[in-house]
Amino acid sequence: MVGTVSDVYETLRQQLRGSGVEVLIPDSEGYEASIKRWSDHCEKRAACVVRVSGPQDVSRTLQFAKANGIPFVVRGGGHSTSGSASIEDGLVIDLSKLRKVTVDPEARTIRAEGGTNWEDVDVEAAKYGLATVGGTVNHTGVGGLTLGGGYGYLSGKYGLTIDNLLGVEIVLPSGEFVTASRTQHADLFWAIRGAGQHFGVTTCFILQGHPQPNPVYSGLLLFTPDKLSQVVDFVNKFDTANDGNQAIAWGFSDAPPPVSGPVVLAHIFHNGTQEEGEAFFADLLALEPIANDAASIPYERVNSQLNDTAKWGGRKVFGGGAFKLPIDAGFVAALRGEFMDFVAAHDGMRESLMLFETIPWQKIAEVGNADTAFSNRGEYYNVATVLKWHDPKLDDEVLAFSRGLLKKASAGVAVPPNTDGSAASKDVHQSQEGVGLYGNYAEADVPAEAIYGGNVKRLQELKSKYDPDNLFDRGTRLAARPVNVVN
Ligand SMILES: Cc1cc2nc3c(=O)[nH]c(=O)nc-3n(C[C@H](O)[C@H](O)[C@H](O)COP(=O)(O)OP(=O)(O)OC[C@H]3O[C@@H](n4cnc5c(N)ncnc54)[C@H](O)[C@@H]3O)c2cc1C
Repeated sequence: MVGTVSDVYETLRQQLRGSGVEVLIPDSEGYEASIKRWSDHCEKRAACVVRVSGPQDVSRTLQFAKANGIPFVVRGGGHSTSGSASIEDGLVIDLSKLRKVTVDPEARTIRAEGGTNWEDVDVEAAKYGLATVGGTVNHTGVGGLTLGGGYGYLSGKYGLTIDNLLGVEIVLPSGEFVTASRTQHADLFWAIRGAGQHFGVTTCFILQGHPQPNPVYSGLLLFTPDKLSQVVDFVNKFDTANDGNQAIAWGFSDAPPPVSGPVVLAHIFHNGTQEEGEAFFADLLALEPIANDAASIPYERVNSQLNDTAKWGGRKVFGGGAFKLPIDAGFVAALRGEFMDFVAAHDGMRESLMLFETIPWQKIAEVGNADTAFSNRGEYYNVATVLKWHDPKLDDEVLAFSRGLLKKASAGVAVPPNTDGSAASKDVHQSQEGVGLYGNYAEADVPAEAIYGGNVKRLQELKSKYDPDNLFDRGTRLAARPVNVVN
């Protein structure tokens, strides 16, 4: 790198001039807002943020970063709590200007630019009576969520988001702009479906839309904590009772907004009429929830219902594990006890949640773990901790607690990573069952095997082919050879 840091980025600004791009350095207007992330602990002071306006900017920026040996990251919706979308001193390729969604009603396809969030997609698709599998909090990014797999309330019917991905337009580490699909760069398309963030900058996702003419029955129920074992009893019938059209994300919190005391919560979903939904969830509704806003609503509003529990700001970790049904109510009560003790003992944590995401696994498991890079398909569900705090001094303690609790919660299912981040003890390469960890809920230091299981070797081969300098891995997760970029 020659010249001062600002000289270098001034050169980049000149190279990109006229394209609608914004090149922000720390004293630029808009810089401070550009480095904000969903979790404050992922906010890092980049040397430069390039808010690109299209693939050509991405390609030029990538080549500039490469030529000058500048480490970089890509920012989609900014929700990952692993820190992988932010960087200290390096460069951020920020996709937040790429928010256009275009629907082809005849082909039933949805083209979503690389920086769109799920609200953009849900709302635009609905104008044409369509829907696809999107995240359950609609301000999360289509980018990170899709590239890592993607679960949503329509997964019971249509599988993961990647199972509905028809193709992507991507700027490769070489700077080349290509389409990857089942027929073009099929090997890359395999890798993108589950490990996409390691292979380039996806500037457009082409998703299958599905007719969604009917409203859905959905909403949040809150119960007093003494109802926990009855809620678990209800959930234990879910495996066999659901027909792919229902889902329930249930768990507990000390005080989720706007509630001021401990509750058991259940966000329920039925893709059908209110009458059918009330019949399916009748035993749960009979437990006399203290709050119940379940109603018949247009599908495009479903993924906004949990937004209040997932606002931007504050330090947060979104951690993951897996559980099977039936689950023992006493076991869940013990997990809750541990969670509540920890939350009570630390300031500013009362809004934290633990959520058992009971989205039917059957449709997801119709695709094999080797059919795409995604390796978390099996007869189980994801469980998540969403821990919230304020004091940076608590970072290590909270992360360690989250891992420990999830390891306990995941007992009996595949392979949660060890609490020190090292590889799990079970031989995940042999697992036909799925790894038991959703990569999008994993922290940065979780080893590749814990996320990609038996797919690691093929992914490493494809990294050698498409990203030989390992530009898209700031850790060494999938590095086939030593990392070339200084961090
Ligand atoms: C409140 C909340 C709710 C969630 N709900 C769900 C859910 O319902 N279902 C689910 O499956 N997951 C869910 N998640 C997890 C979610 O999938 C991840 O947090 C995901 O990383 C979010 O993507 P993003 O684009 O917002 O994040 P970012 O932090 O911007 O990106 C995450 C990673 O993807 C990379 N990336 C993003 N976009 C691109 C792109 N276009 N090209 C190349 N690389 C890119 C980034 O570099 C980074 O490594 C949730 C997370 C949160 C915080």
